[in-house]
Amino acid sequence: MKSDVEISQESRMDPIVKIAAKLGIKEDQLEQYGHYKAKVQFDPKVEKPAGKLILVTSINPTAAGEGKTTVTIGLGDGLSELHKKVALALREPSLGPVMGMKGGATGGGYAQVVPMDDINLHFTGDFDALTEAHNTLAALIDNHIQHGNQLNIDPRQITWKRVLDVNDRELRQVVVGLGGRTSGVPRQDGFDITVASELMAILCLATDLVDLKKRIGQMLIGYTYDRKPILVSDLHVQGALTLLLKDAIKPNLVQTIEHTPAFIHGGPFANIAHGCNSILATQAALHFADYAITEAGFGSDLGGEKFMDIVSPKLNKTPDCVVVVATARALKLNGGVNKNELNQENLAALADGVANLKRHVANMRQYGKPVVVAINRFSSDSEAEINFLTQYVTNELQVKSAVINSWAQGGKGAIELAKEVVAACEQPADFKPLYAAGTPLLDKIKAIVTKTYGGSDVVLSTKAQTALKQIEKMGYSQLPVCMAKTQYSLTDNAKQLGAPTNFIIHVSDLQLKLGAGFIVALTGKILTMPGLPSHPAALDMDIDENGRITGLF
Ligand code: ADP
Ligand code: MG
Repeated sequence: MKSDVEISQESRMDPIVKIAAKLGIKEDQLEQYGHYKAKVQFDPKVEKPAGKLILVTSINPTAAGEGKTTVTIGLGDGLSELHKKVALALREPSLGPVMGMKGGATGGGYAQVVPMDDINLHFTGDFDALTEAHNTLAALIDNHIQHGNQLNIDPRQITWKRVLDVNDRELRQVVVGLGGRTSGVPRQDGFDITVASELMAILCLATDLVDLKKRIGQMLIGYTYDRKPILVSDLHVQGALTLLLKDAIKPNLVQTIEHTPAFIHGGPFANIAHGCNSILATQAALHFADYAITEAGFGSDLGGEKFMDIVSPKLNKTPDCVVVVATARALKLNGGVNKNELNQENLAALADGVANLKRHVANMRQYGKPVVVAINRFSSDSEAEINFLTQYVTNELQVKSAVINSWAQGGKGAIELAKEVVAACEQPADFKPLYAAGTPLLDKIKAIVTKTYGGSDVVLSTKAQTALKQIEKMGYSQLPVCMAKTQYSLTDNAKQLGAPTNFIIHVSDLQLKLGAGFIVALTGKILTMPGLPSHPAALDMDIDENGRITGLF
């Protein structure tokens, strides 16, 4: 089997104008970045019968990922095979995992979006623009303090850190402003990865440029010495920051290897942020196509929950069908198999591990939406394992399923899944939110913990208790919650796999994200600046004199 980058480089892309034409997007609505990438201008307020929305999420994954992106792309190509007008809405990859451990985010094998090298590296510069905008704000805050600090900002209570799109653990905690009177006011600071920036969340939730500016102005950046909140609008820099994002806010259009249109835009991680591509990209897919397929990062406990409870209300649309991706490998891992032995058949472990799938299916079904399980086939899976899984889903979970093999076969390997999804989209479905609007903050967290994670209670650290009081005093308790939790487990402990019950979720801090319009609850040992593994992917990458790339997966 060829590597992903080889398959990508050998694929014959259509000019992006031709891909756009498939969706009825005219040339003057495109801002082209070369021949195969373009930003798309469209007015989401123009009323049009919206397409069907398909949400793809998964079980608790292995470190390599369970193939949600690969399945999303394959399903798109599968719908194209059925002659449906379809568009994908996906997140942009972050350089941190590209150079580090998890790899890219452009699918794999014959289910890829292309040009994969561009998309995985700097693409159309959205993340660079976000990083610059974020750090411009950081510089403006310190500059304000340097020049007299009229706003009375307490340097010890600045909540706006700096960001970088690199997994650089060295920068988690830093001291800035060293060097004397002309080099700023020394204070403790830190770096997050770009995808954890509130600006990323805002870019993904904003409905237009005006909304973007309004949200940026509302961002909380710290407190005064007498504990009053300071917003970006107090510094009067929301205009400049929005200006830096004027192009980044427009969705990017590319194609799959099989020429299915794909909007790729925005990219918050689902463990530390809300985990879904921009609302504008999903709106574009819904606006221009009959079927829009989008991926919610990691499992139903993270991106799935956040899509339903944070994104859907802002999108004004709930999914018509949810696809839960499962692999025999991850279920064996959840059934207790060592991660180095996932290639060997182990039906006993699979029978233990399916409890994890059961929980994720139930998690999505509680919203009242039809669920289809996509069994993403790996060449190491045995026939017996695939049969067991198919039967378990049909007989025990009583939902539809299909084996998908797009990684090896492209869209042809997804036709069965595509048919199931088309049928599911026609089923009547009422949306039942997890918690009612107006539910107090702690009760919202409890609802997520008990109804979705399967836990029994929530315990707040002293810091989180103080934050809760402050949030209640400020009157923001009604905002939705964005949980920051490990993707590997339904609990806050990455090592507790399967389907645990009767556990407690530990909230270490609560952070107000007034621009994004949610409150982040940090649980367990979640880090907002990842580190690199002992063998980062970067060690295997190269480019030769002809521009031929190797090692990019
Ligand atoms: P996710 O979106 O769930 O994180 P990805 O779709 O990015 O997962 O896939 C993770 C990795 O697994 C990628 O390197 C991809 O090429 C690979 N992969 C996905 N599906 C298959 C498959 N069926 N067979 C082999 N490799 C696969
Ligand atoms: Mg993915």
